[in-house]
Amino acid sequence: MNQQLNSSTPKLNNQQFVDLENKYAARNYHPLDVVLEKGEGIWVYDVEGNKYLDCLSAYSAVNQGHCHPRLVKTAKEQIEKLTLTSRAFRNNQLSLFCKEICELTKYEMVLPMNSGAEAVETAIKAARKWGYTKKGIPENEAEIIVFTGNFHGRTTTIISFSSEEDYKTHFGPFTPGFTLAEYGNIEAAKQAITDKTAAILIEPIQGEAGIIMPPQGYLEDLYNLCKENNILFMSDEIQTGLGRTGRLFASDYENIKPDVTIVGKALSGGFYPVSAMLSNAEILGVFQPGQHGSTFGGNPLGMAVARESLKILVEENLIGNAYENGKYFREKLVAMNSRFVKEVRGRGLLIGVELNEEAKSARPFCEKLQQLGILCKETHYNIIRFAPPLIITKEDIDAAMEKIAKVLA
Ligand SMILES: *Cc1c(COP(=O)(O)O)cnc(C)c1O
Repeated sequence: MNQQLNSSTPKLNNQQFVDLENKYAARNYHPLDVVLEKGEGIWVYDVEGNKYLDCLSAYSAVNQGHCHPRLVKTAKEQIEKLTLTSRAFRNNQLSLFCKEICELTKYEMVLPMNSGAEAVETAIKAARKWGYTKKGIPENEAEIIVFTGNFHGRTTTIISFSSEEDYKTHFGPFTPGFTLAEYGNIEAAKQAITDKTAAILIEPIQGEAGIIMPPQGYLEDLYNLCKENNILFMSDEIQTGLGRTGRLFASDYENIKPDVTIVGKALSGGFYPVSAMLSNAEILGVFQPGQHGSTFGGNPLGMAVARESLKILVEENLIGNAYENGKYFREKLVAMNSRFVKEVRGRGLLIGVELNEEAKSARPFCEKLQQLGILCKETHYNIIRFAPPLIITKEDIDAAMEKIAKVLA
């Protein structure tokens, strides 16, 4: 019998899988050469049986830990019942998800999508339509203020307002209607406002830019500025939200309630792409039947998984754990006093370690950590991001620190 038919996943070694990917897959990523085949909690295993602590958590999509048993059970049960209805019909999981996420986040309404970028696109469309129909901005002239260093996804419209050349070059022409202001600078935001400003779109902590935190009080000042000018405050919490920073939302660290909060990633614990735009009835109410949609958005499988993911966050106290153990993790990193480290920053378990001139690139540090059984990824040239699943314990952190010390010492 043909071997290929016997086993759908042939036994190849690490390098053989790397070679296959390099030959057949588009090169839009530069991954570490580790080929994973299994995950459990904070651990992942490669095809040769090596075990690693996952310190990236799929860019914070796996806050609940890999293959959480409750999510496995929920997904299996739902797969056997019903997976996709489209929104032409209603489904029971959608109704319950919408109620539960609104109660948890204290928003009035929600619009579920799939990827993070789609939820950001949804928010942009809602803000524009709100601008025309509620604020009276002349048609096709709405402006949205965005910030230097932003990352909101990869669609053509979203990259149109990126300040990162690599994300944009040769992908134009770009979508107009966005104004870039310097992140963390309230005066720059003031300067950017016009009569046509419908909204601002901001990450409360910039993840992809390198765990960049704005000055304390900046988000509140910006929020007040928006209120004074009848501008929507839209917070992209796709990476920072759902417990990652030690609060439900990173914006909770300041005294604000964004008009729009966008979530994704950990909303489904890494099982399935589920994202959502959360807001009030005035803003989400701008969408009439037929004006926005998604075939998979709000599907019963995604909704069942998302419901369980949110329950796990609350019932396993992952938000409190992120706060406590994130603090512990950062304190340990600082206490290491590494001669390569310029700054340790972040909130909760979203931690950035910026390396100095002497260290140069973060990549070799990540490769050394990989050899010692810790997976993390450099962001930009000289920053290492540590963002393990939120279920990590102090003992796990202690064990990891011994290895991290070997690399940074
Ligand atoms: C990852 C991310 C996105 C995009 O999400 P995708 O699911 O990759 O489309 C948007 N905004 C922020 C802040 C993110 O971290």
